[in-house]
Amino acid sequence: MDRFDPASIAIRSGHFIGGELIDAGASRIEVTRPSDGVAYASVPIADEAMIDYAVQNAYDAFRNSDWARRAPRDRARVLRKFADLVAADAATLAPLEALGSTRPIRDAFNWDVPFTAEGIRFYAEYADKIGGEVAATDHRHLGMTIAEPYGVIGAIAPWNFPLVMASWKIAPALAAGNAVVLKPSEMTPFSVLRLAELAIEAGVPAGIFNIVQGDGRITGDALVRHPRISKVTFTGSTRTGAAIMAACAETGTKPVTLELGGKSPQIVFADAPRLDEVARRIAGAITGNAGQVCVAGSRLLVQRAIADQLTDRIAQAFSELKAGPTWDAATSLPPIISEPQAQRIDTIVQRSIASGASLRFGGKRADASTPGAFYSPTLLCDVTPETDAVRNEIFGPVLTVQPFDTEEEALALASHAEYGLAAGVHTADIGRALRMVRGIEAGTIWVNRYGRTSDFVIPTGGYKRSGIGKDLGKQAYEANLRFKSVLIDTKS
Ligand code: NAD
Repeated sequence: MDRFDPASIAIRSGHFIGGELIDAGASRIEVTRPSDGVAYASVPIADEAMIDYAVQNAYDAFRNSDWARRAPRDRARVLRKFADLVAADAATLAPLEALGSTRPIRDAFNWDVPFTAEGIRFYAEYADKIGGEVAATDHRHLGMTIAEPYGVIGAIAPWNFPLVMASWKIAPALAAGNAVVLKPSEMTPFSVLRLAELAIEAGVPAGIFNIVQGDGRITGDALVRHPRISKVTFTGSTRTGAAIMAACAETGTKPVTLELGGKSPQIVFADAPRLDEVARRIAGAITGNAGQVCVAGSRLLVQRAIADQLTDRIAQAFSELKAGPTWDAATSLPPIISEPQAQRIDTIVQRSIASGASLRFGGKRADASTPGAFYSPTLLCDVTPETDAVRNEIFGPVLTVQPFDTEEEALALASHAEYGLAAGVHTADIGRALRMVRGIEAGTIWVNRYGRTSDFVIPTGGYKRSGIGKDLGKQAYEANLRFKSVLIDTKS
């Protein structure tokens, strides 16, 4: 699917609690399409009472349905069916995803929906793989750990990949036998509702997967503070992550998984093979989803000898992108999520220029066929580690360029004062690549590539203020379990 008519998409709104869509709440949030700024629907805001209803429902389902106690293979079977239903629903889910988000329909159909389904399938396969361990005790005792679900997991997701980010939270939680209350971003609240309906169709008991709608200040805060929430998993900004961690500490020392912001470097040495390909990779890593990706490669560190050649090629790749709405087949540069966010990007760019950065490309709104918030891919040279655009996560298509001479200098520049989410190293020298892998303080390092594959087994997560814990991999599954220690006296 490569296009659709935005007027043809029917929106169902509300919370999803106990297997039912509940469109109730005194206050509502208007939801706007980033592609053309049209307010196309609204969602109710879950207040404390609604959160209590949702969490209590989840807790009752956790206690009273057999989701946590049934044979794990049976839970796996239901989740595999859930994954199949998601994949088969792409013609409905993909336009729903694309309509109100920044995901172009072609990507939503070919990547977001199948990737969501495959993530659920991946975690279904963990359901009967980790049950605990027998401990090495002396023969008068039998010691063991038993893996158990937490109970109700509170999950909070961002807007940049609404389905995929939600699936990274809910799939391991459900496979481990938990109930979940998910709060999507108030800017992209609808596609996950379809996910919840498909979960019910697959056989997930009502109340095991719930959704509450609303903003962070009221709904998100009430969710993480609820006493029946046993663990919180969050993806979003570093600032919100810190507020959530504080709320979890204040209300029961709840464990948290935090996937937060980044300012990831792309380091290119002069010996990097196939410079044209490297340039395309680097351009793609900052313009994909218009740079609204946590692991966007936003800082180019390039060995001085090839700096001009590489920036020329990147500028050329930038110039070929076409801004447009998510429902148009020709779009290769989607919109920024909101008007205030587009203004914030421009403020950081202009402030960086005022402080000495030179503009090599972009630096302004991009023209598009619709009046959404589009921003041109932007290349800023002559920056320092103090430049606003280098220091702060922009979450837009803005790439800064810093030349270096030596490996040591590259390592020093790669280290960001605040973030450590990901990094890319491009070189033909394997020894140098490995020295960089060891030297860079970041949760993920890509060598001669940038971005993930469909290998769900490789976890993702940040160092420093980019986060705590992991999504994906075995780590994310284990983070949805708690381990009970048992010691049995076998003396007669
Ligand atoms: P955000 O922090 O503004 O919001 C994320 C979610 O938290 C939303 O659902 C929001 O309603 C909710 N929220 C806000 N305040 C809250 C509070 N006080 N208590 C509870 N919930 C609250 O982030 P965003 O703008 O939606 O997403 C962009 C950010 O997410 C970027 O910083 C990006 O790097 C990060 N991100 C990280 C990853 C990762 O894997 N590390 C992935 C995607 C996005």
